[in-house]
Amino acid sequence: MSASLEGRCLCGALRYRITLPVIDAGYCHCRLCQRSAGAPVLAWLTVPMAQFAWLAGTPVVFHSSEHSQREFCGACGTQLLFRRSADPQTVDVTIASLDDPEQLPPQYHIWRQSRIGWFETADSLPRHEDSGPDR
Ligand SMILES: [Zn+2]
Ligand SMILES: [Zn+2]
Repeated sequence: MSASLEGRCLCGALRYRITLPVIDAGYCHCRLCQRSAGAPVLAWLTVPMAQFAWLAGTPVVFHSSEHSQREFCGACGTQLLFRRSADPQTVDVTIASLDDPEQLPPQYHIWRQSRIGWFETADSLPRHEDSGPDR
C-alpha cells in the first residue's frame, strides 16, 4: 500500500486524498493565483490525476482561463484544485489545504514577474520569472 496524504476545505464539505509520491511542489506568484485566493502567493503540489481522489463532496468548477480550471468549495470558498486542459493527466492541489502541509515543502518559485513587491520568502529555492523550465 502506498503512503497517502489527506486534505480538506475550510468547512470540511470537501475532502480528498493524494497518493505519494507527488511530481513536484512549488510557489506560484501569478496574478490568477493571487486573485483566486486573495493572497500574495499560492503553494501547489502536482500529482498524476490517478493519484488524486475525492473522499467527500463535489467541488464547484471555475474556468479561470481558456485553458485552465480551478475547483473550490461552494460553501466556504477554499480553492483546492487547478487543472490545465493541455495536461489532463496531472492535477495541482493547494498544499496548505493538506491536513499536514509540512510534509510537502515547495521546491521552486514560478511566475515571479507577477510577484507583489512587498512579498518575499526567506529561502534559496530556484526563482523563475515565468512558468519555469519544466512546465
Ligand atoms: Zn468548504
Ligand atoms: Zn498561478
